[in-house]
Amino acid sequence: MFNLLVIGGAGYIGSHMVKQLLEADYHVVVLDDLSTGFENAITAENARLIIGDVGDRALLDLLFSTEKFDGVLHFASLIQVGESVAQPARYYRSNVAKTLTLLEAMVEHGVGPLIFSSTAAVFGEPEYSPIDEAHRQAPINPYGASKFMVERMLEDFDRAYGLKSVALRYFNAAGADPEGRIGERHDPETHLIPLALHAVLGARPPLKVFGRDYSTPDGTCVRDYIHVTDLAEAHLRALEYLWAGNPTARFNLGNGNGFSVQEVMDAVERVTGQPVPHENAPRRTGDPAHLVADSRAAKSTLGWNPRYADIDTIVAHAWAWEQKRVRLR
Ligand code: UDP
Repeated sequence: MFNLLVIGGAGYIGSHMVKQLLEADYHVVVLDDLSTGFENAITAENARLIIGDVGDRALLDLLFSTEKFDGVLHFASLIQVGESVAQPARYYRSNVAKTLTLLEAMVEHGVGPLIFSSTAAVFGEPEYSPIDEAHRQAPINPYGASKFMVERMLEDFDRAYGLKSVALRYFNAAGADPEGRIGERHDPETHLIPLALHAVLGARPPLKVFGRDYSTPDGTCVRDYIHVTDLAEAHLRALEYLWAGNPTARFNLGNGNGFSVQEVMDAVERVTGQPVPHENAPRRTGDPAHLVADSRAAKSTLGWNPRYADIDTIVAHAWAWEQKRVRLR
């Protein structure tokens, strides 16, 4: 049975990954410091949780010398653009330095391959759309820069030490487990769909629409919302790709369908049957008008096939989860 280490497996995308791996009969060890993740996001008893820091070299040495892993999936990172501008040191420490510790330990213990969570933010201001893998990488904030630096390290580590990896650039991860057992939980929450749903539930103030004067059809920003279950699926395909002996690579993951903030609010209204309480607000710094992925490479090379491309389905799964969360409170 394949044994996989999932770092950050108690977080939003990581926990959906763990669920999918267990359903596919993989053996899973989760390493998570629970700084932003939740212990009860790991739904099955047969995933072992080690509470610890990916930057703890002694812990990694112990783990890699006592257990054999067939692959590592690294989800643990800080993800807030605004915070990264205010506190770059934290971002470079967590996202770059700790990942370097992981890579060194993997090389030393002969562990691999690695699937790395990257982001559309590695591209910076889009020069054309949809964004494919050939797009220039020019991140405009420390968050994007930190992921870009790791992508660069991964190339160098392959060339020098033969560590095989796939970096997956997520566009806007959204939705929740279709079975409703787990979902998105960020604290503080900054993402559009949960904030719109919380506004409908009256659990938060009205949604602020950050800018209506963008050069898009309705003036609000367009993003590529990709279902978290589809994202998890791409990681499995990427592992299989590397296990088959294919080279280190990077792929952009999205639906290829852009939806504006207004279109997302319309979807929330359709799904919940209620209007989204909202108010117009100034633009948020660092928000490009339009960010949409060209995922043809992931589809053709990895055989990845996103199942939940429809925005109403993505919102419906998120809505089921939010209602469950409210009842759990
Ligand atoms: N957005 C918004 N109000 C909010 C949060 C987000 O208008 O309270 C907009 C944001 O400007 C962006 C889109 O929704 O255009 C998606 O933002 P999110 O933070 O969910 O993801 P990001 O695109 O920043 O990764």
